[in-house]
Amino acid sequence: MTQTAELSTATPPQHVVRPSAVAGFLLVHAAAIAGVALVGFSWTGVALCVASYYLRMFAITAGFHRYFSHRAYRLARVPQFLMAFLGQTSAQKGVLWWASNHRHHHKYSDRPEDIHSPVQNGFWWSHIGWILSGLYDETDYTRIPDLAKFPELRWLDRNQYAATMVYAVALFFAFGWTGLIYGYFLSTVLLWHGTFTINSVMHLFGRRVFPTADQSRNSMIFALVTMGEGWHNNHHYYPSSAAQGFTWWQVDMSFSLLWLGEKIGLVKGLRRAPSPAVTEALALARTKLDVSVETSGQAMEDDPLAQLAARWDGIRDAARVTAHQALADLEAARLRAVQRLDVLQADYAAARTRAEAAASNRLVELRAEIENTRRELHDTLVRLVEAAENLGLSAAAPA
Ligand SMILES: [Zn+2]
Ligand SMILES: [Zn+2]
Repeated sequence: MTQTAELSTATPPQHVVRPSAVAGFLLVHAAAIAGVALVGFSWTGVALCVASYYLRMFAITAGFHRYFSHRAYRLARVPQFLMAFLGQTSAQKGVLWWASNHRHHHKYSDRPEDIHSPVQNGFWWSHIGWILSGLYDETDYTRIPDLAKFPELRWLDRNQYAATMVYAVALFFAFGWTGLIYGYFLSTVLLWHGTFTINSVMHLFGRRVFPTADQSRNSMIFALVTMGEGWHNNHHYYPSSAAQGFTWWQVDMSFSLLWLGEKIGLVKGLRRAPSPAVTEALALARTKLDVSVETSGQAMEDDPLAQLAARWDGIRDAARVTAHQALADLEAARLRAVQRLDVLQADYAAARTRAEAAASNRLVELRAEIENTRRELHDTLVRLVEAAENLGLSAAAPA
């Protein structure tokens, strides 16, 4: 109860969920738990639950996400319909609704307009609140003209629960109550949360490799839970790639299956992230700005920013003598960025020492701001050093 009260004071007034939607959502959870208690434990049930989870997770990640939202590969019309149908058995509303909202997420990732950003509106809002609010129930066709032109997809989207009901009934006829409870209810609840973690957890916890403008992260554990979607920072860096794991060890089961699909001719034009960009960015990861915010003061020799700053220190005195206007302007910009970074890092340290839950959101914001300012400072320093070198200035000889 206390947590609900805290949550409601922390979120703006328009961010409220509909009680009827919450009740329905909880009812499915209750059906799963009560059902398991009534049917009793069974290994057949566990196997059905896991199989049904991964079958449909594939349709969500490879289908709803990589195919319908990002067009990362091509499918013929019948497989396209089957993929949409299978995706809708997961009871995550319609395929067009899903893709349309997801395209919006990429357009505004972690900015105020983002409909499910944990950075903007907290964990629970990004996880499930935005769906239960009823604010985004309509499918915005203007974002998905490429998909809305197919009448069969529009029909599926309008009849959001047709596929999932057919699926539940089929499981009941094939495997009885065990099929319905384990294969449908329990599996669907797990599948919901598995999918929702991409919107919530994967913008909060894990490793940032690429300096994307959002707070997307990478996590091996969630890559296993979601068949490859845990490489979410990779994905935000290169959204049109069908592969979200960029290296051999970044397990991406959805992509492996799509690759097989390509071999048998079902999948066409699988898009991948360009390898030079990936290699370069992964190399950059070792000196990642985000990491050095946490460890600033250490690892200076690995920090490109610190190296540049040291180089500039060497040339600065020689540059001052020239009284060159371009250098003076850049130097002023550098000082402003340095001062801003100092203030931000002090705020960050202060926010970290505060124990309140409210501070964690502020921390994420501060980290983003620090990252931006560091990038700004980095760019200014690069230009300073280049400009100084163009003027024929070089570092003062060490005393
Ligand atoms: Zn995202
Ligand atoms: Zn995406």
